[in-house]
Amino acid sequence: MLNTPFELERVQSQERLQKIIEFAKGKDTPCLIVDLAKIRERYRALQKHMPYAKVFYAVKSNPINEVVKTLADLGSCFDVATIYELNQVLALGVSPDRISYGNTIKKVSDIQLFYEKGVRLFVTDSESDLRKLAEYAPGSKIFFRLMTNGEGADWPLSRKFGAHPDSIYKLIILCRRLGLIPIGISFHVGSQQRDIGQWDNAIATCKYLFESCQDIDIELKMMNLGGGFPANYLSPTQDISVYTDEITRFLEEDFPNGIPEIYLEPGRYMVGDAGVISTEVILISKKSPSNLYSWMYVDIGKFGGLIETLDEAIKYPIYTEKTGKEREVILAGPTCDSMDVLYENHKYKLPETVMEGDRLYILTTGAYTQSYSAINFNGLPPLQAYVIDLGD
Ligand SMILES: *Cc1c(COP(=O)(O)O)cnc(C)c1O
Repeated sequence: MLNTPFELERVQSQERLQKIIEFAKGKDTPCLIVDLAKIRERYRALQKHMPYAKVFYAVKSNPINEVVKTLADLGSCFDVATIYELNQVLALGVSPDRISYGNTIKKVSDIQLFYEKGVRLFVTDSESDLRKLAEYAPGSKIFFRLMTNGEGADWPLSRKFGAHPDSIYKLIILCRRLGLIPIGISFHVGSQQRDIGQWDNAIATCKYLFESCQDIDIELKMMNLGGGFPANYLSPTQDISVYTDEITRFLEEDFPNGIPEIYLEPGRYMVGDAGVISTEVILISKKSPSNLYSWMYVDIGKFGGLIETLDEAIKYPIYTEKTGKEREVILAGPTCDSMDVLYENHKYKLPETVMEGDRLYILTTGAYTQSYSAINFNGLPPLQAYVIDLGD
């Protein structure tokens, strides 16, 4: 019997979860289990709903070799941010024409290495970066990152990236003068974006730029709609098909004479639901006899890979095999840093029967967890990950 304050079936099939739990029982905690079958399912669903789009998996969301390889075998392209990700993806047999250098912040030596390895697709959002690209990656294809405000997203990526459309227009003109090929516009509406209308706004701005460029004989060909597609956390989102149908409609409305080449850069959507973290309850305590809530300390926290609980931005569904009457708890991590609290404002409900030594399963932890875990804080090792394949 289930006794959790969320609809498990929305997040994870019970059958699949049982298999993952069985596997996890033989392992020390904390650990992350990643199911490759789920990732294949996600890739295929996206392809089915947006057959016209080319997928560039955002490697940073889960860089485990088997994950990258699984997506490579399905034909995915890759958005990489550093020379280390580049070398990893190349070593797995991905050819450089399937790679974009999607970081607007690059050292000259990075540009040189990407160019040397054969990558010819770069993003930029500034004049200085564009001039470096002209010098060290001559003749390459350039797309331009538009600034968005990140509104509606659980994990916004605003301010740091992108430029105003007026700046982009100037960069596009400079790009042509410098002998580079301006191919399109990109944006990222913010990660775990709940407001599908944010794509509408950004696509409309792209349309305006496409038209302005046409007036000066620059034919942009491509639009990169970024990431932002949802994983299944505690608060529900629309199904991916609603996202893709809506986005397709925005595109068709703004580009009635044929839509440009479309690139996507999903990260969270692709791998989030594929991961489950197994953690052990270390301690349950009350700070004073009159306190309403107990503190429940588990053996993974912000430094162990759950950094996206900052400001309680991402609320992971938590599953327990225990059942019975529930009580609200404050959940905290194991380290000696007072910011290592997972959820204090949002009280998780767990059965009163959950005891020290029991395991909890933190669902939807395939994205932005293991790669964020600290290497040695309090002597704790980085989060151990296991890859399994539950089959299609
Ligand atoms: C992180 C990132 C992504 C992935 O975003 P998700 O919301 O995880 O899908 C895509 N594109 C760029 C440029 C990114 O930095």
